[in-house]
Amino acid sequence: MTEPLAEARPPRIRKPDWIRVKAPTSVGFAETKSLMRRLNLATVCEEAACPNIGECWTKKHATVMILGDTCTRACAFCNVKTGMPRAVDPLEPQHTADAAAELGLQHIVITSVDRDDLPDGGASQFVKVIEALRRTTPSTTIEILTPDFRNKAESAVEKIVAARPDVYNHNLETVPRLYPTIRPGARYYASLRLLESVKKHDPSIFTKSGLMTGLGEQRLEVHQVMDDMRSADIDFLTMGQYLQPTPRHAKVEEFTTPQSFNAYAAIARAKGFLLVAASPLTRSSYHAGEDFAKMRAARDAKLGKVSA
Ligand code: SF4
Repeated sequence: MTEPLAEARPPRIRKPDWIRVKAPTSVGFAETKSLMRRLNLATVCEEAACPNIGECWTKKHATVMILGDTCTRACAFCNVKTGMPRAVDPLEPQHTADAAAELGLQHIVITSVDRDDLPDGGASQFVKVIEALRRTTPSTTIEILTPDFRNKAESAVEKIVAARPDVYNHNLETVPRLYPTIRPGARYYASLRLLESVKKHDPSIFTKSGLMTGLGEQRLEVHQVMDDMRSADIDFLTMGQYLQPTPRHAKVEEFTTPQSFNAYAAIARAKGFLLVAASPLTRSSYHAGEDFAKMRAARDAKLGKVSA
């Protein structure tokens, strides 16, 4: 007799070898973890169950997730917990800056949960974090990865851009056709406009956006998103394989091969991005420091300047 449970659950595609990562066991990993707990900081590395955590935390690269660990949205791809978030922690900006100083970060990535419950969506907390970092560790370059600030993006972007982060990142995540199922609380063109408005307010800030593959998108749809990004003047494209965090999340439709990532990267470069990172394990903040240096050098080369 067939076991009913085995029949009820659709088979998951087996992870290919190019996705496998080592378990995090290093001293650097343990130190990064204990610092984050001591400073009461959440990280997207842990909350999103990032496969690169062993590598990044060994090098003491962590991406701080501000505005708490509870998100007001419930995107089908994301492992971050959903619910009614706690009050904003007034110590979080200084704790984030202290973490950057203790970790010795030359470049830091700050992201957040969606806070649709706050009147400004959390924009002022991003500003406070940038200010605390500039005070505490002035040579650290700052990359922020923000939510879409639904219905308040204009004022949020204006406020954040005035604080002058070095890189403004906001992920489009997937092709527009898949938004209703994968990113139901968001609007593709609103996200695109947000990134465009960063450049309009301050063209010196680098803009960056990312896409996940393996959710059922078609190659030509991805090419179209690249064109849309270029018309919004986005400098840096990241692309990585979506991994299903739990059986409750959207399933992986396909594992994109390393060769296909290379093909996407070649097309994206031809479309004029300053920098492209595309590989199975690429994530928004993966190797962000090295990539920032490359992006700055690429812009300087384009402008005919000598890189600092
Ligand atoms: S890739 Fe980004 S989110 Fe993942 S572990 Fe590294 S820093 Fe954290």
